[in-house]
Amino acid sequence: MKTTKSTSNKSVSKSTSRSKARRTNGSSSRESKSNQLEELFEEELKDIYWAEKALTKAIPKMIKKASSANLVDALESHLDETEQQVSRIEKIFSIMGKDAKAKKCEAMAGLIKEAEEIISDTEEGPMRDAGIIAAAQKVEHYEIATYGTLCTFAKTLGWEEVKAILGTTLEEEKNADLGLTEIAEECINIEAAEA
Ligand code: FE
Ligand code: ZN
Ligand code: FE
Ligand code: FE
Repeated sequence: MKTTKSTSNKSVSKSTSRSKARRTNGSSSRESKSNQLEELFEEELKDIYWAEKALTKAIPKMIKKASSANLVDALESHLDETEQQVSRIEKIFSIMGKDAKAKKCEAMAGLIKEAEEIISDTEEGPMRDAGIIAAAQKVEHYEIATYGTLCTFAKTLGWEEVKAILGTTLEEEKNADLGLTEIAEECINIEAAEA
């Protein structure tokens, strides 16, 4: 009797502790996944912070080399937006309670290098403008991908304010891309072909 009871108690207590352990593992793994997502978010934010700051220096060079007034206007207004985007990223770092740190984005460094190559390889005028648009649209697409991902991460983490800030920038990047497509379709590509 005694033995049976003790065995049964042991078995109950074993099963209880096992299910407790399982529950603990479950919540700690969820917690560590959320921490990992937070870390990944921060890394991506550092990446796009570097990229946006690099663009505040690269866009003025594109403006200087562009001929079409429409293209110059579009790049100038996107330069203003880009400066605001840098500030928005700094705001997100502060919401997270982190220092704003940039980490070199090799992809953006490459896209900017390609833009410089296109500019130096083309003759001033419609051809160079077409090249600038091509390079700038690659930049916008890269940014759209990054901000889209960051929005999804913020949503998953339940960071509503951060998601809204990122959403504002994402819309600006999409509009910049659409604006460049319009300029290319309306004038530059035809002028470039006729030249
Ligand atoms: Fe941007
Ligand atoms: Zn990047
Ligand atoms: Fe990168
Ligand atoms: Fe942009």
